[in-house]
Amino acid sequence: MDAVRTLVITAHPDDVDFGAAGTVALWTEGGAAVVYCVVTDGDNGGFDPDVPRGDIGGIRRSEQNAAARCVGVSDVRFLGYPDGRVTPSLELRRDLSRVIRDVRPHRVLTHSPERNWENIRASHPDHLVVGEAAVHAVYPDARNPFQFPELLADEKLDAHIVPELWLLGAPHPNHFVDVTGTFQRKLSAINAHVSQLPEPDTIARRIEHRLRLNADRGALGEGHLAEAFRVVQIE
Ligand SMILES: [Zn+2]
Repeated sequence: MDAVRTLVITAHPDDVDFGAAGTVALWTEGGAAVVYCVVTDGDNGGFDPDVPRGDIGGIRRSEQNAAARCVGVSDVRFLGYPDGRVTPSLELRRDLSRVIRDVRPHRVLTHSPERNWENIRASHPDHLVVGEAAVHAVYPDARNPFQFPELLADEKLDAHIVPELWLLGAPHPNHFVDVTGTFQRKLSAINAHVSQLPEPDTIARRIEHRLRLNADRGALGEGHLAEAFRVVQIE
C-alpha cells in the first residue's frame, strides 16, 4: 500500500463505505491522504417517514463526515447535485475536473460506468453517471489544459495527470484487497449511516458474507475478507 494521495468520487453518502472503506482504512493507516468528493447529498435516501424530507440531505452529509472519520478521512467535499437526477453533463465533468486539479491525486477511486448485471444495486443510475463523468474528468479533462480553460484562467488550477483509476462495482474486478484487518473500521463507517440502515442488526453479517465471496474470487484464502475493484493504469 503506497502512501499515495487518493481522491474518492462517489454519487451518494455511504457509497464509499459499502464499497471501499476497508481499503481506505488501509491506505490512511499507511500514511496516504484520502479526500472524498460526494456528488449528491443523498436527499432521496432514508426510510423513516417521520423525518422531514428537507432534513435528509443535511443528515446524510453529517453521517458521511462521521463515517469518513472512522477510516481516517477528514476532507469531505459535497457538490450538492440532486439525488436521483444526476446526468453526465459537461458541468459535472468540469466540477470533477476542478476537484481533481485541486486535490492532485495519484489515484482516483470512483464507480464503474459499466453496468454490473450480477449486482444491479451497484449500478444505480447515479453511480453509472458519476462513474462516466469521473472517468472523463480523469481522462482527458483534468490533464488537458485546453479543456475547461477557465479553471486555470479564473481559479489558477493547473492541468493534472491521474495515473491510476480504481472502479467500484465493476462487472469484471481484477484486484482484490484483503480487508480482514480493517473490517471492524469499515463496519463502524457503515454504521455511521444511521438514516440508511432500517435493519442495523443484520448489516454486519450481510457485509461479511459479501466480502468473503470477494476473497474467494480473489483466492485470498480461507477466513479472509476482501473488497473488489477494477484497477486501470492510465500511464
Ligand atoms: Zn449510492
